[in-house]
Amino acid sequence: MTRAITTGLATRTDLLLTGISQLVTAEGAPARRGQRMGELRVIPDAALAISAGRVQWVGPARDWLPVGGAPARELDLGGAAVVPGLIDPHTHTVWAGDRLADFEARAAKTSYEEILRAGGGIRSTIRSTSAEMPRELARLAAPRIGALLRSGATTIEVKSGYGGSTVAELTMLEAISLLSAEQRAHHGARLLATLLIHLPPPARSSTRPSAPPPESRSRQQFLARVCGELIPAAARRSLASAVDVFVEREAWTVAEAERIFATARSCGLAVKLHSDQFHSIGGVTLAVRAGALSVDHLEAADEEEIRALAHSQTIATLLPGVSLHLGLPAAPGRRLIDAGAAVAVGTDLNPGSSPLFSTAAALGLAVRMNGLTLQEALVAGTVNAACALGLSDRGRLEPGCIADFLVLHSSDWRDLVYVMGANPVAAVWIQGRRWKDDTRRASTSEHVGISSDEPQAETVR
Ligand SMILES: [Zn+2]
Repeated sequence: MTRAITTGLATRTDLLLTGISQLVTAEGAPARRGQRMGELRVIPDAALAISAGRVQWVGPARDWLPVGGAPARELDLGGAAVVPGLIDPHTHTVWAGDRLADFEARAAKTSYEEILRAGGGIRSTIRSTSAEMPRELARLAAPRIGALLRSGATTIEVKSGYGGSTVAELTMLEAISLLSAEQRAHHGARLLATLLIHLPPPARSSTRPSAPPPESRSRQQFLARVCGELIPAAARRSLASAVDVFVEREAWTVAEAERIFATARSCGLAVKLHSDQFHSIGGVTLAVRAGALSVDHLEAADEEEIRALAHSQTIATLLPGVSLHLGLPAAPGRRLIDAGAAVAVGTDLNPGSSPLFSTAAALGLAVRMNGLTLQEALVAGTVNAACALGLSDRGRLEPGCIADFLVLHSSDWRDLVYVMGANPVAAVWIQGRRWKDDTRRASTSEHVGISSDEPQAETVR
């Protein structure tokens, strides 16, 4: 196939990229579902023209015809493969403290109960995070964003959820807003903030993870503050574009999530869920009924949930880093796609259950653990992940789309999901500009100052 497409606009080309061994992209919005998730356009010996930060033309290099005069600049990529910038639709990148002691204890077969008694577990992350100010939270999170970007993520969703009170959740959202401004100033990734209503307050005088029952007063008061103060404040201050609820036996019920969703909608915010991570308690049905952008996790989803998702517009987001880190069964990715669902993949980067700092690696894990094909994994990490965030202007390299793309170290795009333990991404381009990597390397706790410039052989003509 030697099809070439242009926008038809006679605007001058800012940049023409040639020497592309393969340009690989999904075509057309919206989300790809079922067997269409396996359809990619692979253009050998391709060229990519960019104008005003958007894709102007893409096709076989021999078909390129200058529009509006010769390109202002040409760049030969020397035979590298090019794919769309990845989209990480699910991260908890902002936190303080670390969970290294938990990891060490788990590796020594210590029970979760004992870890909690020793002061570990998610409540410890909530304690450390809620004690910090926005600027410090942003400082801690910046190298983690840098790691995701370096691994190919050009758009990243970041959730609150470790605050545990109205003030602390808003503080987390302010930290995300600071990070977002910093990324914009450095022509980095686009960040999308989500307000996560994570856990009900803990049962009184207990270190156990259990929450008080739905009818308890403290829980009802907490929920009233979420709906009466927190969500309206986040919306009023434009600190979040969506509200996420953790629906699980030890977290929120379907009825409570429904009330939270009603508030979110009335405030003009999109909705999504963490659901079916450990138990199926009706979260998927709620997601479909509420028109949620996505329902994420799904490790415990069975036939009924799979069928419901296959017949809905809601994206099924898989988080294989969690299955790997906790040693739990992976979500039924293969069965979801075979049934006709639209699947996305994210890192779920967080200190407790998924210290996965690479969006590209999440796609490789989805192949190995969730049964996706290589083609499906790329679609799940690009165009479908964009849909999981309500975006349709990115995740593919077609005229008019934002020119976010990756130049790989390899001439074969499949290395993106094949390579383990090294970064297959040689260069990240955002809105037609090469991202300058001046962030520090990420650590789960404090970051260390190691310079990270990876020189790339490029020829400017
Ligand atoms: Zn999560």
